[in-house]
Amino acid sequence: AVEVQWEIAADEGFRTILQSGKALATPQLGHSVHVEVNGLNPETWYWYRFHCGDATSRTGRTRTMPISTALPSQLRFAFASCQHYETGLYTAYEHMAKEPLDLVLHLGDYIYEYAGIDERVRKHAGKEIVSLEDYRTRYAQYRLDTHLQTMHSLCPWAVVWDDHEFDNNCAGDVSEEANVSRDDYLLRRANAYQAYYESMPLRRSALPTGPDMILYRTIDFGRLARFEMLDTRQYRTDQPNGDGLKPLEGDVLNPNATLLGQQQERWLMAELLRSRASWNVLAQQIMMARVDRDPAQEARFSMDQWAGYDVARKRLLSFLETRRVPNPVVLTGDIHSNWANDLKVDFDSEQSPVVAAEFVGTSISSGGNGTQSPKGQAEMLAQNPFVKFQNAERGYVSCTVTPKEWKSDYQVVEYVDKPGAPLINRASFVVEAGQRGLQKA
Ligand code: FE
Ligand code: CA
Repeated sequence: AVEVQWEIAADEGFRTILQSGKALATPQLGHSVHVEVNGLNPETWYWYRFHCGDATSRTGRTRTMPISTALPSQLRFAFASCQHYETGLYTAYEHMAKEPLDLVLHLGDYIYEYAGIDERVRKHAGKEIVSLEDYRTRYAQYRLDTHLQTMHSLCPWAVVWDDHEFDNNCAGDVSEEANVSRDDYLLRRANAYQAYYESMPLRRSALPTGPDMILYRTIDFGRLARFEMLDTRQYRTDQPNGDGLKPLEGDVLNPNATLLGQQQERWLMAELLRSRASWNVLAQQIMMARVDRDPAQEARFSMDQWAGYDVARKRLLSFLETRRVPNPVVLTGDIHSNWANDLKVDFDSEQSPVVAAEFVGTSISSGGNGTQSPKGQAEMLAQNPFVKFQNAERGYVSCTVTPKEWKSDYQVVEYVDKPGAPLINRASFVVEAGQRGLQKA
């Protein structure tokens, strides 16, 4: 165990140190420290650093949230997902670092579990990760990226995982591979979750217990926005009818199929009813719009997304509608493409009202160099009129939120296989408070 000193200052040069203390970095937690500091002022920038032995860390900057009763005039944040280290550079973060942001949300696939593959932009160290040591090494490798380091040092991050922090398309305690025992699978999950806790800016309340870790939580930005950070992987029932693209039949319509699990779903509904926020944000992983992904033939939907759990999807959207949750906005990652969707309870009915807006953000690097118009895009848009925009370039989404208006800017780069791609604002969409439906800005 090693003693680490921490300092919080009111200025970048540490002329006014406001608080300091000692924390013990233990080998049991990979020599990570998670310092929780109380007594700071709301809506204020602070700088922090660590000393250990004769070493001093680089300086980080963070910002406290407004008090719960305040109505701030504006929030600026970005959301990101899917940063496969091998398939591209983090040019998107290099650009994000130049935006004046209060907060970054990461919606999952912070790492990928796969073995290193030759002749890619970069290479994972080692084989597919399974042990605690493997997962720790993978986070360490990703964190060596200087653009990622810089973005972490500029403002607070709120993180939730998707599947690749553990295993591709994982669902509850069921392995994607048929030959893995439940015990081995949960042991691997314990390793994955512990390394995630160690590496991420999370509080003690998220400390895992074996293969379980409570990651879902509420983050209030005063009364302007309430973020419900959701975990759609740990508690879900297995993908119905297997994975992949399937029609809406059989177990897709099983009323017991769940993405959030009963406990998280009840918690979410209670938090939404208690909310006094202008904007109620579900920050989560998988697409909620029920998009027909195979418009050329009979309708088929992704079984790994909300479409594969249609009763749960309808229950949540009906709840938002009937309980009049103010200005619901869904933020999504996972599928390495940008989408702007109007969400409805019944996507088959023209009369069914728009209930919420969904902004799906593309990957930082996963998938490599992208494209503006993936194959079949025109047919997909014609078949799914509630989809207002789609694009499969790399990047992130930058949001400007005021009490009156939500604006999402789709920020993209045209390539990630070499450095220096300029930032392009490919599209912007607006939601007016109290109004239904997306408008192109
Ligand atoms: Fe991904
Ligand atoms: Ca994913």
